[in-house]
Amino acid sequence: MKRLLLSFCLSGIFCQTITAQTNAATEQKITVLINKMTLAEKINMIHANSSFTSGGVKRLGIPELVMSDGPHGVRPEHGRDWDKDLNVNDSGTYLPTGNALAATWNPALGYRFGAVLGSEAKWRGKDVILGPGINIIRTPLNGRNFEYLSEDPYLISKMVVGYIKGVQAQGISACVKHFAANNQEILRNSINVTMSERALREIYLPGFKAAVTEAKVNTLMGAYNKFRGQWCTHNSYLMNDILKKEWGFDGVVISDWGAVHNTKEALENGTDIEMGSEFTLKSWTDYSKFYLADSAVASVKMDKTILEVLINDKVRRILRIMYRTNMFAKRTSGEYASKAHSNTALKIAEEAIVLLKNESKILPLAKNKIKTIAVIGANADRKNGYGGGSSQVKALYEVTPLAGIKNIIANSNINVLYAPGYTIERNATANNTLIAEAVAAAAKADVVIVVGGWTHGYDYNVWNDNAYDAEGVDKPNMDMPFGQNELIDAVTKANPNTIVVLMGGGAIDISQWEPKVKGIIEAWYPGMEGGNALAKIIFGEVNPSGKLPVTFPKYLKDCPAHVLGEYPGDSVNVKYNDDIFVGYRYYDTYKVAPQFAFGHGLSYTSFQYSNLKVQYANKKATVTLTVKNSGKVAGAEVVQLYVQEDTPAVKRPEKELKAFTKVFLKAGEQKQITLQLTENAFQYYEEATMKWVMKPGKFKVLAASSAADIRLKKMVEVK
Ligand code: BGC
Repeated sequence: MKRLLLSFCLSGIFCQTITAQTNAATEQKITVLINKMTLAEKINMIHANSSFTSGGVKRLGIPELVMSDGPHGVRPEHGRDWDKDLNVNDSGTYLPTGNALAATWNPALGYRFGAVLGSEAKWRGKDVILGPGINIIRTPLNGRNFEYLSEDPYLISKMVVGYIKGVQAQGISACVKHFAANNQEILRNSINVTMSERALREIYLPGFKAAVTEAKVNTLMGAYNKFRGQWCTHNSYLMNDILKKEWGFDGVVISDWGAVHNTKEALENGTDIEMGSEFTLKSWTDYSKFYLADSAVASVKMDKTILEVLINDKVRRILRIMYRTNMFAKRTSGEYASKAHSNTALKIAEEAIVLLKNESKILPLAKNKIKTIAVIGANADRKNGYGGGSSQVKALYEVTPLAGIKNIIANSNINVLYAPGYTIERNATANNTLIAEAVAAAAKADVVIVVGGWTHGYDYNVWNDNAYDAEGVDKPNMDMPFGQNELIDAVTKANPNTIVVLMGGGAIDISQWEPKVKGIIEAWYPGMEGGNALAKIIFGEVNPSGKLPVTFPKYLKDCPAHVLGEYPGDSVNVKYNDDIFVGYRYYDTYKVAPQFAFGHGLSYTSFQYSNLKVQYANKKATVTLTVKNSGKVAGAEVVQLYVQEDTPAVKRPEKELKAFTKVFLKAGEQKQITLQLTENAFQYYEEATMKWVMKPGKFKVLAASSAADIRLKKMVEVK
């Protein structure tokens, strides 16, 4: 019978009927449960009853819902009342951060990333993992850019689906956050974001839409900020009209911690679970004070018919995801801090690290040609897992860049000299003694590797203590802190064979020394195996294949949010007048040359593109081309398809990413690849009709190695 069902299932239709019946059966069970519940029991389920749980109903066998951050590892235990639980095994897998994952441009790795998280969350007894974070990277200054993925909604959409499916395949709920327009940390608890409907639809929503409609995410987190005058977590347009009605989201909306401000709005506008209000209400363990606790009971008593229906809907949603994630059955145990999981962390880091510059082919380094390497920079010896805020992870171990380099040369005769060169301390500026030590090391070496960039902050335990890449703060500017410009300048004078590795949440101003160094690598925060991945790339054991998921502008004054739009706003409002011109959409259209373009990333081999064909029929295009590895080593290329309207009737970005694929090729190998452009690839959002529209006309399809490196073009006429 099972076999019979399976073959029917493969044929599609019958399977849908079974699923529908199963769903109907589950919904029926939920109805029975709800009918047995008192109002107090229902209310108990829709607000927190500890730092990371919402209430259950013991009498009916309904468990608490247990949550944990996210997004790149399971957070250390915080105890029911935020007192850290110290006697628990919570040292787990620390994955590369979100921007690193996006830099792989490999959705299959998104799935593997999610599967590690889901499995570890399950082992730790969690039901919901609070990730992925997918807010658009609008300005390089946002303190949480490291958690987020990209400036491009298409890349986000592709990566987020894999991540969520990976988590949920483990029987754990993912929680996509922060919905919506939470693009700065500064003033996040008060700022009101306004933007055009077109920018909302084209830039800020597609990632969330893919999470809901394609990945079927079980939960979503409402953001702290306001949108068009109403708090996001109970924003009637975002939550009711778009998320629940238009996209048909049938899961649970969880508030960000302390993002609920009003009982009536939270009841009416889609918030299903209120978390973290102890921070705003200063009511540390009395959860009855929450907006969706006693005051919700009082409201229902005044307006029973309407409000109990709303509460039933919230409870139904919670029970639904409980059934979906086997919370009423015995779950498998998951796997924690395993070798397989750290291997996944390594693989992701290897594909995430981006080779930005490689003058005179200084990289990869050949072990037999080097006697001494100088490794310089406090970041080379710094662990990052515990930094950054709610995304902190107690890593089982963390291989720093210095440790990774030492590991890889362990059985060679290479000598490593290490000098920190700067201190990661509040207000630290160039330190002449440390610079002199670094210069002395550089002068003795064949090659110098400076590891610098951003950090999560000054103190591991105080994440937002004037930090750079951290929750609750934004960066003051795009400058390299701690006197690193002076350091790199001095080091390059002592030894021109200098390679700079940048750590952190994205673009940083390198204009002062960029022409003087031969190599530049972006390493992000590459997780527990990051140092090993980096060393493998430096010595050519791994051929770099990461590509930038964000543009690296030259200067902060070039950034669209700062030129066209507002940032951080006037303390009450921030107007996104940069509109749809975010990231490369701005730099390309307004002809502002970036330092490194969106999608840029070098390899130790070269790739040739040929034979581009575009076949258009029924509002879709099938694109084929041949990619050849024309160099001497195996490698991977991310082929990017951009679409450009020839003579648009409305303002449109110069081009937009609409498809990509990562192709793995041996030396000399070639493959024909096929990419589909759906109707959406040619559409824009028309505000007058509130619809996506495709106007007949000519479009160029651009096959590219980055937004600035178009290899082939073909015109197509869409009808
Ligand atoms: C963050 C969320 C996080 C939550 C729980 C909030 O401050 O914005 O991303 O999931 O705290 O730790």
